[in-house]
Amino acid sequence: MIFKIVFFTAILSFYSIAAHTRTARINILSKYDLNSIVITADSGSMKSDEESFILDRARIIINADKDTLNIRHQGRFINSKNITISTHNSAAIYFGKNLKRKYPGDLIIQCRNDKLIIINSCEFDTYIHSAAVAESKGLIDKSPYYTEFIKVMEICARSYLLANGDRHIEKEWEFCDLTHCMHYEGLLDDGKTFSAGEILIDSNGKPVECFFHSTCGGLLTKPDVFWENHTGETFREGNDSINGRSLCGKSPHYSWTAKTDYRKLSDVFRLQGLNAIDAIYKSGRVSKIIFKTEKGQVTVDIPRFMSVCGRAYGWNFIKSNYFFIKNDNDSVLFFGKGLGHGVGLCQYGAAEMIRNGANYVDVLKFYFPGAELTK
Ligand SMILES: [Zn+2]
Ligand SMILES: [Zn+2]
Repeated sequence: MIFKIVFFTAILSFYSIAAHTRTARINILSKYDLNSIVITADSGSMKSDEESFILDRARIIINADKDTLNIRHQGRFINSKNITISTHNSAAIYFGKNLKRKYPGDLIIQCRNDKLIIINSCEFDTYIHSAAVAESKGLIDKSPYYTEFIKVMEICARSYLLANGDRHIEKEWEFCDLTHCMHYEGLLDDGKTFSAGEILIDSNGKPVECFFHSTCGGLLTKPDVFWENHTGETFREGNDSINGRSLCGKSPHYSWTAKTDYRKLSDVFRLQGLNAIDAIYKSGRVSKIIFKTEKGQVTVDIPRFMSVCGRAYGWNFIKSNYFFIKNDNDSVLFFGKGLGHGVGLCQYGAAEMIRNGANYVDVLKFYFPGAELTK
């Protein structure tokens, strides 16, 4: 089993330098479709298309008007296509109904068709730490185990994002603040990383796409169960047990049931004459769903099945791709385990390992046995 800590080698220094010195550009708050925000900043500067302003306990009101920003600052009205707000520590954005978030670094704001486009540019490691904290909410309290758990999540997030840095290549940002990249809510604490620069790499020296999920339900799989042709020799497969006990057994998502009927499923998947539903399994988890209709079979890949069900029934209806189906007259019952795709790190399992005395290296070694930890 290859797993050792390598502290700095020439071949890997690219990733190290990239992680230490680079900034991250994140498209934020896009899901709210905002056309108006208020920004407050204690100190810093603001740059419009034509002018620069010093910020001193500033309150800036920004409205989108077609493709132009209408800005109000210190009693003045300014029109500009772009605006950059740079602060010495952070700026707060007030939006929607009493919502507030704090962002480090710079805010670059534009608008199109009456909608604000907001980019947060900040230190890569501040972003990684904040995303790791946001992705761990409610999972582990601020106990002595917290730092070790966040370290694990930071290393997964850093590796995953370095492996996936070109997902928004056609845009002016590298990452979004949604789970497509990493859930990010700006600063949730002081933003300081616990794991500066550490990443997991594969046998070719490339950052590992460290998938993670809430609860595996006792069975971990490799990526190709969920994403066809996506191989990954670095991932743990099979049980997530130690001494015969499933590590995520205490998770509230460890087992679940869901119920629907043929009529609703037919509406949701636009089927006619549905009379049974079945599943094809790969490594113990569902990889495809088969709808048996009067006209023949319709096969749907599991990611599509889960996203269509999520939109129609709610995202917690089919919680994972680890379930069994029972056809019962006109009803369909799903008996499931876990929350998420079961690939990579199981967050509840990792938290349990740490509570039982494991450190972050032990946890990463357990879930990514084919990877190497490096700086
Ligand atoms: Zn994204
Ligand atoms: Zn698990």
